Amino acid sequence: MIVLKTSRELSAMRKAGKISQAALKLAGEAVEPGVSTWEIDKIVRQYIEKMGATPSFLGYGGFPGSACISVNHVVIHGIPSKSQVLKKGDIVSVDVGACFEGFHGDNAWTFPCGEISGEAKSLLEATEKSLWLGIEQAKPGNRLGDIGHAVQEYVEARSYSVVREFVGHGVGAKLHEDPSVPNYGTPGRGVRLQPGMVIAIEPMVNAGKCGVRILQDGWTTVTQDGSLSAHFEHTVAITPDGPVILTRLD
Ligand code: MG
Repeated sequence: MIVLKTSRELSAMRKAGKISQAALKLAGEAVEPGVSTWEIDKIVRQYIEKMGATPSFLGYGGFPGSACISVNHVVIHGIPSKSQVLKKGDIVSVDVGACFEGFHGDNAWTFPCGEISGEAKSLLEATEKSLWLGIEQAKPGNRLGDIGHAVQEYVEARSYSVVREFVGHGVGAKLHEDPSVPNYGTPGRGVRLQPGMVIAIEPMVNAGKCGVRILQDGWTTVTQDGSLSAHFEHTVAITPDGPVILTRLD
């Protein structure tokens, strides 16, 4: 069931989105060689709690961190760890959610750790661009397939691939709500978008093939072929005026 949000609920979601984005920015600033993913997670948790909010991911389905931190060939759901120390050239996907006044914000970004290779840089640029193209389609009258298609078309034209097993989702009083928001699709197909819907659009893009597998810890999701993977996400409200990004600072 898709829960439509009132304008009052959207302003509450805006606050949760702002906290989520600020936490993600802090995480990005902390990404540098020699820093462990555990330290970055701690920065995220401390900031969210200081703002009177709750880290959405902490304890979610038993997840042990406040942020998912996924390095290089890890696609998503990387578990923060003291033993994982970042190196120059890594690409570091940080996924952060915060719950404030009963509503969640959810966002992710892939940060370069120091100087990165040209290949890695192109992957980050293409994945970010596909997010913006997906967001552009998030307007009333369009359908979910328009979003997925915009992402997929751009990504595949660059010979990258879009992950199928994990998708975007509705966001609200629950972190994951209906509908599912795939990063692939057919224009004009799927659920029709209407004002009051809030969705997380989150392309996960592999430099190689689209296959992924989950490691024995039950969380860490890696590319099957060991290729690099990037992840960018915003929480977006569908409004009569078009898409409004809730996970932004200004
Ligand atoms: Mg999400």
